[in-house]
Amino acid sequence: MTTSVETMKQTRVHQVLQTESIGKKVKLAGWVRTRRDSKGGFSFIELNDGSCMKSVQILAEAALSNYESEVLKLGIGSSIEVIGDVVESPGKGQTTEVKAESVKVLGYADPQTYPLQKKGTSMEFLRSIAHLRPRTNTFGAVARVRNEICRSIHNFFQSRGFLYINTPIITASDCEGAGQMFNVTTFDLKDVPRISGEGGAKGDIDFEQDFFGRATHLTVSGQLEAEIYATALTNVYTFGPTFRAENSNTSRHLAEFWMVEPEMAFCDLEGDMQCAEDFLKTIFNDVMTNCGSDMEFFNERIDKTVLETLKHIVDSDFVRISYTEAVDILLKCGEKFEFPVSWGIDLQSEHERYLTEKKFKKPVIVYDYPKDIKAFYMRLNDDGKTVRAMDVLVPKVGEIIGGSQREERLDVLIERMKACDLDPEEYWWYLDLRKFGTVPHAGFGLGLERTVQFVTGMGNIRDVIPFPRAPKTADF
Ligand code: ATP
Ligand code: MN
Repeated sequence: MTTSVETMKQTRVHQVLQTESIGKKVKLAGWVRTRRDSKGGFSFIELNDGSCMKSVQILAEAALSNYESEVLKLGIGSSIEVIGDVVESPGKGQTTEVKAESVKVLGYADPQTYPLQKKGTSMEFLRSIAHLRPRTNTFGAVARVRNEICRSIHNFFQSRGFLYINTPIITASDCEGAGQMFNVTTFDLKDVPRISGEGGAKGDIDFEQDFFGRATHLTVSGQLEAEIYATALTNVYTFGPTFRAENSNTSRHLAEFWMVEPEMAFCDLEGDMQCAEDFLKTIFNDVMTNCGSDMEFFNERIDKTVLETLKHIVDSDFVRISYTEAVDILLKCGEKFEFPVSWGIDLQSEHERYLTEKKFKKPVIVYDYPKDIKAFYMRLNDDGKTVRAMDVLVPKVGEIIGGSQREERLDVLIERMKACDLDPEEYWWYLDLRKFGTVPHAGFGLGLERTVQFVTGMGNIRDVIPFPRAPKTADF
């Protein structure tokens, strides 16, 4: 049986690299990484299509009709389509190669001006060419690992019967005060309507005239809406972009990042912490199982400890200590911190890192934080001073998960809102969940980019999201 070349299905490079492909005729397409010409009158082309870290070696012989006229002009970045036979490779470093019967040029890349040359590409430079950086080994590997983490996230929750829900990106609820918010408006910024007439509001922006008839902004978290669905459907999760206009130019903060937020009814802080631990271990395991060569690359080129660290984490229990115990440890450890430690402070990243990197050398869950440094919706403990909050800390990245058991008691919740200067009437719907069939419930938020950062060892969070948004950075 013969197949017409035009209708031949395209094979991906990762398939061709498997020995089972030997003897098959394939059609491949991708981008040239290198071309080496041999005196014997043939060329080797390394072809990459992003399906895996490795490129496949194409043997292009001088007998090809366009060998002189086209093949010898192919440089890094050119795109080609190849038809040929998969054969056992006599060369070192690969088991298979493709002996081309045709090489069709789809597009040349001028080697003089192509910005991605083999050497001398710093992460900073690559950020300035975010449209081409996915063609590098590093960013290809980051994209594949990020994809695997997303798949693992959905698998984890789907296999446990959680419903995936979609919470809104534009919201009017002024939730949690988690960093600064981006406003959403259609007002002409040169001529913003003001409230006229007399009274206290005179001169304020008149949001009634705005698109939604009220002030709105981009969500900082889908949690409050997830609670609505958890108190009807029991176990749910949201997974989407969140936005924080915090002016923190750190290697761990973005203005737009993705967050996974499970919310579980009939669940307390113990169950929440257990879920978070199982969740992280599952993700790490899946990445090691399904992204072997990408992870070897990160381990060799980016951070020599990533694989060892991940294996160690999967095999050991997370440490669980209360905030009060954590503060005690930090006070007694004799370490010099830039920010002094005392009971009541928000733990700084140097404190978090001491606990997880130096003291315990594994992930640490800190729970029962002082109520004054945490959000209004976290369940108040009997001591009246602490709330059922928990943060999961991991080496190098620090906080990767923040979560809590939610306050399900109506009266306590109203008191906490007032103490936090929030107007309970604004949250009437949130309070309804406590008025009508309230239940204990809990949840957490995992930052996707911090997870990718931790797994890959990439130093800067801007290099684990395709198009980073950060202060003064939204170029692509
Ligand atoms: P941090 O103290 O590190 O700023 P946070 O306390 O503001 O974090 P939460 O509001 O608990 O974080 O958000 C839940 C998770 O979302 C965090 O554990 C982290 O993984 C991630 N996250 C929070 N802010 C950012 C950000 N600006 N960029 C990337 N990820 C973030
Ligand atoms: Mn923050």
